[in-house]
Amino acid sequence: MKTILTGDRPTGKLHLGHFVGSLRERVKLQNSGEYDKIFIMIADAQALTDHADNPAAVRENILNVALDYLSVGLNPEKSTIFIQSQIPALFELTAYYLNLVTVSRLERNPTVKNEIAQKNFETSIPAGFLCYPVSQAADITAFDANIVPVGEDQAPMLEQAREIVRKMNELYGEVLVEPNIFLSSNETCRRLPGIDGKAKMSKTLGNCIYLSDDSKTVAAKVKEMYTDPLHIKVSDPGHIEGNVVFTYLDAFCEDKKTVAEMKEHYQRGGLGDVKVKKFLLEVLEEILTPIRQRRADFENNSAEVMKILKTGTEIANEKANEVLQRVKRAMKINYFE
Ligand code: ATP
Ligand code: MG
Repeated sequence: MKTILTGDRPTGKLHLGHFVGSLRERVKLQNSGEYDKIFIMIADAQALTDHADNPAAVRENILNVALDYLSVGLNPEKSTIFIQSQIPALFELTAYYLNLVTVSRLERNPTVKNEIAQKNFETSIPAGFLCYPVSQAADITAFDANIVPVGEDQAPMLEQAREIVRKMNELYGEVLVEPNIFLSSNETCRRLPGIDGKAKMSKTLGNCIYLSDDSKTVAAKVKEMYTDPLHIKVSDPGHIEGNVVFTYLDAFCEDKKTVAEMKEHYQRGGLGDVKVKKFLLEVLEEILTPIRQRRADFENNSAEVMKILKTGTEIANEKANEVLQRVKRAMKINYFE
């Protein structure tokens, strides 16, 4: 069986980083027809680990994320889209997995460490936040997923999940499936920088181009994009390292030959930022236009979108319950069976 599980936190609308890091890969995998089951989770419970004070925002973003999914071409006939908090089995599994993980192991997770610093949680980390990698292990294993298409920042989560699986299997017999991370083959896409040049485009950092941005907004964001501060006159030789415009061309432009020529010209001098940005904008618009068109089909039909989520959640519950029963049997806590 080849089963995929992946998801996103409903902490905002999805952006180009999500698109190249994970969404675009999911759609490709979905349409390849090579996978038996595909589960796509809206991770609202995980979002609450750092948004406990604002559940309304999480609730509102469920619909935004679902719309983004449908807009990029995830097809509910082929992919089961569901809401994490509505799957009780995930929380039961998390409780059992927590016994197999030490606090110091959780504190060593580099992605969580970064996020704690970013959110100024240092002196008061919500316990649920520190433990979210464990709940993520439950999300993955509850569906017997062996393939998890995500961005690079998720590698430590996958490592943690694999450790938990091995420990469970060692203690209770071969009960869980070991998952593998699936990263984009395009290295630039594994961690897309923000338009400000910061290491990661992220909702939290506010340096995003959103899939739902209109043409005017995208044009304005491309215009303000970080380039080479030393490239002042058009005739000056420019740098492409750390120049976000070129990084985005690597991530989004299929025509690698033209990109290589432009890079060469830019480094030599004589190619202006305005021209390169204009080209990038065309490339982005070609990708975003069909996404916007599909969004328009669903946008005014939130009842239909909620129905898709409800049906997906029912299917997901069935599978997760089946795995939970298997785990409880293996742990010998199936007293009434
Ligand atoms: P938040 O700031 O709320 O954590 P986020 O922008 O980091 O939001 P997530 O919902 O945490 O987004 O991530 C969802 C998925 O998208 C993950 O697989 C993650 O690796 C991927 N992803 C997010 N940002 C990027 C990026 N800039 N480049 C590549 N992949 C990304
Ligand atoms: Mg994140």
